[in-house]
Amino acid sequence: MGQKRILITGAAGFLGSHLCDRFVKEGYHVIGMDNLITGDMANIEHLFKLENFEFYNHDVSKFVHIPGKLHYILHFASPASPIDYLKIPIQTLKVGSLGTHNLLGLARNKNARMLIASTSEVYGDPNVNPQPEEYWGNVNPVGPRGVYDEAKRFQEAITMAYHTFHGVETRIVRIFNTYGPRMRLNDGRVLPAFIGQALRGEDLTIFGDGSQTRSFCYVDDLIEGIYRLLMSDYAQPVNIGNPDEITIKQFCEEIIKLTGTTQKIVYKELPQDDPKQRRPDITKARAILGWEPKVGRAEGLKITYEYFKSLPAEALEKIDHKDFTTFNR
Ligand code: NAD
Ligand code: UDP
Repeated sequence: MGQKRILITGAAGFLGSHLCDRFVKEGYHVIGMDNLITGDMANIEHLFKLENFEFYNHDVSKFVHIPGKLHYILHFASPASPIDYLKIPIQTLKVGSLGTHNLLGLARNKNARMLIASTSEVYGDPNVNPQPEEYWGNVNPVGPRGVYDEAKRFQEAITMAYHTFHGVETRIVRIFNTYGPRMRLNDGRVLPAFIGQALRGEDLTIFGDGSQTRSFCYVDDLIEGIYRLLMSDYAQPVNIGNPDEITIKQFCEEIIKLTGTTQKIVYKELPQDDPKQRRPDITKARAILGWEPKVGRAEGLKITYEYFKSLPAEALEKIDHKDFTTFNR
């Protein structure tokens, strides 16, 4: 049969790098692709010594060429944190639309199966809790999060169109808040924000009154769910996430306990359109993939905290965010 070849976009990012590890371990030839706009080569440095890994520094919103055979494509390239996509809204729209179109074209051409990373953000600020895949969502297209949410909704639509019109084998995973080692300490998402603040001895910033909820999934559980979905024959969207819902206030208190910080909580303004509740209905994942999360928050947070503590001191400096100015918009 020969070795299976898989293209993973967003390879230098948080989730992409964990996917590279998983498929290398499964014996695939892994082709990583990333333009490093929010990613970090340190996340995949350890793979370069391997024969079954190669890497292209490329913007997938431009034509994508891969020589040779390709059996699978995982499209994970996209800014993912609200702070990132607010700073680079046009690239966010482009990678979800033009990038996805390019990769679907490649999948069609190579006869490859393609899985796209969609998100709970397609449900917007949901009026239904928990969110099942049948819920169509409550998204403000012209609000600040619209650039991400609508790019992802378009991504699902074009993926489904390539499936039904061109017969491309496609898979859609709707990922709910996931955390773990290799998140960027300064990407603005709530977990690295709180842990970074604790490690720097700063106050912890809760946006709004902290009554909004999220449900946090440990990265290993997510990767297993994605692997199973890719190997399944199910082309409709599937939620993957941990249904253990918690308020941001409670989450903050857990981080305070975990880190032993003596700093206080300060309250800041709630960002516009910040979803008030979020919890995956994972009935489908359970039934179709036989999947459910295994790692509880206490365990997952401990591993993640150890990772952040092990980073070199420079990583902790309060360089606010990445410098995006060198990227072509
Ligand atoms: P991340 O920022 O760590 O990784 C994204 C990667 O994509 C980065 O390495 C970045 O440099 C790369 N990238 C962005 N635009 C690109 C382009 N045009 N060409 C090539 N590479 C590009 O974020 P993440 O958390 O790993 O998210 C990965 C994917 O999963 C995204 O599609 C995101 O929308 C989705 N997702 C993540 C979560 C989560 O909780 N982590 C939740 C829902 C959806
Ligand atoms: N949040 C917060 N303090 C922070 C960063 C985020 O209270 O320093 C809140 C944010 O308003 C949201 C939740 O934490 O309600 C999760 O935010 P995140 O940016 O991680 O992702 P989201 O789930 O909103 O996409």
